[in-house]
Amino acid sequence: MGRPILRVAVPSPLYQTFDYLVPANVDPRELMAGVRVRVPFGRTRSIGVLLEMAGSSPIADGRLKTAEAVLDQEPVVTPEILALARWASGYYHYPLGEVLAAVLPVALRTGRRRRSGRLNWAVTESGLLVDVATLDRAPRQAAVLNVLLQHPQGLDREALVALVGTPDSALAALRKKGWVARTEAQVTDPTPAVSPQISPTLTQAQSKAVDRVSAALDRFGVFLLDGVTGSGKTEVYLRLAETVLAKQRQVLILVPEIGLTPQLVDRVRRRLGARLAVLHSGLSDGERLDAWQMARSGDAAIVLGTRSAVFTPLARPGLLIVDEEHDASLKQQEGFRYSARDLLVWRARHLDIPVLLGSATPSLESLYNVQQGRYTELRLPDRAGDARPPRIQLLDMRKERLEDGLSRPMLERIEQHLSRDGQVMLFLNRRGYAPTLLCHECGWSAQCRRCDARMVMHQSRGQLRCHHCGAQRILDARCGQCDSADLRPIGQGTERVEQALARNFPGQTLIRIDRDSTRRKGSLEKMLQMARSGKGRLLLGTQMLAKGHHFPDVTLVGILDADSGLYGADFRASERMAQLIVQVAGRAGRARRAGEVCIQTHHPDHPLLQLLLTEGYSGFAQAALAERQAAQLPPHASLALLRAEAINREMPWSFLEQARDLAQADGAPGVELWGPVPAPMERRGGRYRAQLVLQANRRKDLQCLLQVWVRRLGTLKGARKVRWSVDVDPGDTL
Ligand code: ADP
Ligand code: ZN
Ligand code: ZN
Repeated sequence: MGRPILRVAVPSPLYQTFDYLVPANVDPRELMAGVRVRVPFGRTRSIGVLLEMAGSSPIADGRLKTAEAVLDQEPVVTPEILALARWASGYYHYPLGEVLAAVLPVALRTGRRRRSGRLNWAVTESGLLVDVATLDRAPRQAAVLNVLLQHPQGLDREALVALVGTPDSALAALRKKGWVARTEAQVTDPTPAVSPQISPTLTQAQSKAVDRVSAALDRFGVFLLDGVTGSGKTEVYLRLAETVLAKQRQVLILVPEIGLTPQLVDRVRRRLGARLAVLHSGLSDGERLDAWQMARSGDAAIVLGTRSAVFTPLARPGLLIVDEEHDASLKQQEGFRYSARDLLVWRARHLDIPVLLGSATPSLESLYNVQQGRYTELRLPDRAGDARPPRIQLLDMRKERLEDGLSRPMLERIEQHLSRDGQVMLFLNRRGYAPTLLCHECGWSAQCRRCDARMVMHQSRGQLRCHHCGAQRILDARCGQCDSADLRPIGQGTERVEQALARNFPGQTLIRIDRDSTRRKGSLEKMLQMARSGKGRLLLGTQMLAKGHHFPDVTLVGILDADSGLYGADFRASERMAQLIVQVAGRAGRARRAGEVCIQTHHPDHPLLQLLLTEGYSGFAQAALAERQAAQLPPHASLALLRAEAINREMPWSFLEQARDLAQADGAPGVELWGPVPAPMERRGGRYRAQLVLQANRRKDLQCLLQVWVRRLGTLKGARKVRWSVDVDPGDTL
């Protein structure tokens, strides 16, 4: 056998691994898969991940380069995460080196050393119960534990050295017993672990759900917790987490971006009193690395995070949970496109532990899996506590005169609820003042110069903005076509409705929550606090306001425009609209006060709305599933999308035509090719976009084609002149 060879995954668009010789000062027998390796790559150098040691390489010996350095002694990519990355790379047809780069915290991607320090040592819950006297045969451990018991907030290593001398072996021993753990340095929670919040007595449905999952903790299984808003799903997660923690296992909880609120973090921390690692996009690289390390070492018993937290390594995984499993933010839409929910299900199977998917409005995918017998459904049909389901009614807008998007009956309802001390929440999924600025003389409207889209008027800033590419300019004073000065804002966004509400309800505290009003750090939390405390009587917002928040005093929820989702271009538009309506409606009457939901629409007879009203979300979902079956769309079929864009219109088109021909030349058994077609908004950010849809009734057929085809796309003529990407199980086909 020749010299051992390092097989390395390097971030690169090429679908291949790269071979290197072992650096002279490294003993190949000590190398483990998953360590980072710095290698020469092209004209620069790159950080890759060692996949395996190979006995020989297809590259001639003399042409192999030598790796510059091995950066870790222990793998940063654990065997489990490496398996996940390999599977994901194969399923989503994205290069393994790129997948691994996306999987690692940024701080590690750049080749920095794994840092320790800055983390504190603290006593765990079980450590609190230890009688130190039992440690008399291990005086070092007793000393360390004693000191830590006197400092419940934890101490860093330096402080321990100062107090008791070198603590490392004692800490290692205590940690093995589960009595101490590393924790964030800035734990300021004054009541961790010691006085956990009391949990309510579970309802019958909750108990049943908890029992079913508890009985299956030792094996793989997917549970769909289908519970109406406010039915106590979070309570079920917490109860199960308690059970799992008691077995010294960890729990990973994924939540949508918008669902990761400080309240949830607080609720988890207070109830479980366990070491908690929180991973979200707002963290600095250092903070993210700390949280990642706590999860990996097992010091964090609970890991709570958004989408990318699905890749967090766990030392002792016991239960995986996805909250709001239908939420679109669980799907990564750029670069390495993956579904965090689906990857978490894969992880659960691989680890042979259960995964729990929770939602009040489950995705059609998950409901279909229940129908197929692959997932177990657990239902929570009623709200927890005394809360009653809200009354929902449609307000027919066809004969109404609107005042800035508010109909007379809507204004009357608001008035009624406010005068009876209710809190009112209005929902409009459009920020800005007006979506269109129109010339009253000639019908011209202000367009984005780089997109096939209208500019949105933002009055407070005196600007026009494109919500697709971010372009902005000063409000046009005159028509671009006839030079008339009679330009009028048409339609409404939250800014405009806010003004109308202020006019109609002077003296009421009004809070507007959207991306514009919450730009400053901390402002969202402040507004939510005002909303929760009941100080803000009138709440107005986009979907930022729709999810996950618990406002006990809200008695009226108004959906100002339900129509946009009824005739959307995407095949998921109606599913999303139904989910949104049900989620928003779920904000009404969460506590003891009865709630009312009013939906403004020009299409009160629309079958979707009617179904939703008469039979609820599950009635809607059954009908939608039947429609998908008839149209051979997911979840009854599998889709993949090849997107291409370029600065002129022809290039993406010609690329996609070649791609289609390439697929057809191989016969493409079981796969239909639709297109190419222009993207619904063809020009965006100055680039022309088109797409090719691949549809198969059997997932296997689609995967079989993609396997060969994607790797050849880069060789098509003009492939370098277009930006192309493959999206397997696309969230939106737009
Ligand atoms: P979901 O996650 O389904 O929206 P939560 O778990 O947040 O529901 O519960 C909604 C509200 O009901 C919360 O205020 C919660 O404290 C309360 N709650 C949950 N379960 C119970 C129960 N068994 N008894 C009384 N109150 C409960
Ligand atoms: Zn004009
Ligand atoms: Zn634009």
